[in-house]
Amino acid sequence: MSSMGDESFEQLKKQGKVSNNKEDIQYVSCITTRVLRAMGEKPDEWEVKVFVDESPNAFALPGKNVGVHTGMIKLAKNQDQLAAVIGHEIGHVLANHGNERVSQNLIVQGGLVATQLALGNDSTTDGLIVGALGVGAQFGVLLPFSRKQESEADELGIKYMASAGFDPAGAPQLWKVMKTAGAGGQPEFLSTHPSPDSRIAALSKLVPKYKNDYQAVKDKPKCR
Ligand SMILES: [Zn+2]
Repeated sequence: MSSMGDESFEQLKKQGKVSNNKEDIQYVSCITTRVLRAMGEKPDEWEVKVFVDESPNAFALPGKNVGVHTGMIKLAKNQDQLAAVIGHEIGHVLANHGNERVSQNLIVQGGLVATQLALGNDSTTDGLIVGALGVGAQFGVLLPFSRKQESEADELGIKYMASAGFDPAGAPQLWKVMKTAGAGGQPEFLSTHPSPDSRIAALSKLVPKYKNDYQAVKDKPKCR
C-alpha cells in the first residue's frame, strides 16, 4: 500500500504543478505538522506538497503523503477549516481505508485490468488504484469512500485537529463553505465526499465532544 501511495504521489507531482509559493507551503506544513504530531506520527516522515490547482481538493496517500490544492487553501476560510480537511484525509490513511478499497476494486475490475495490461495500457489499473486511494478524480476515476469510512475519517479528523489546538467548530464550518461553493457546480471534492448535510449535522454534534481537548491546548497554532 505504501509503495502504491508513493507511486501515485510521484505521478501526481509529475502530472500536476507543485507550488513553490513559500507562504502556502508554510501554511499547509504548519497545519499538517501539528495534526500529525497529535496523531502520534512523525511529521518528518511525511511528504507534504501544495499543488497549483484551482479545484478545492486535498488528499492523503499511504506511504505518508499529503497534497493540498491551492483551490482548497482559498476555499477554507481559516486554519481551523483547513485543518479539518487535512485531518479528515490523513484519517482515511490511518484507518487503512484505501487498503480495503484497493483489494475490493482490483477484484471487481480484475477482468478489465487484465485486458488493459494485455494491451500494454496500465493507465486503467493506475486509475483504479488511485481511485481506491481517494485521489481518482485527478485521473478521471470518481470513487467515493463508503459512508462508514467517511464518518470514521470525519471523527478522526475532528478529534486530532482539536488535540492539535485547532477549533473543532472549523469542521462543520468547512463543509458549509464547501456546500455553498458547490451550489454553482459540483466541486470534485464533493463528488468524492457526498452528502454534506448529514455530514454537517454529524460533525456539529461532535464539536462539543472535542471542545475541551481544543481548549486544553495552551500554545494554539498560528499557522496564518
Ligand atoms: Zn473522505
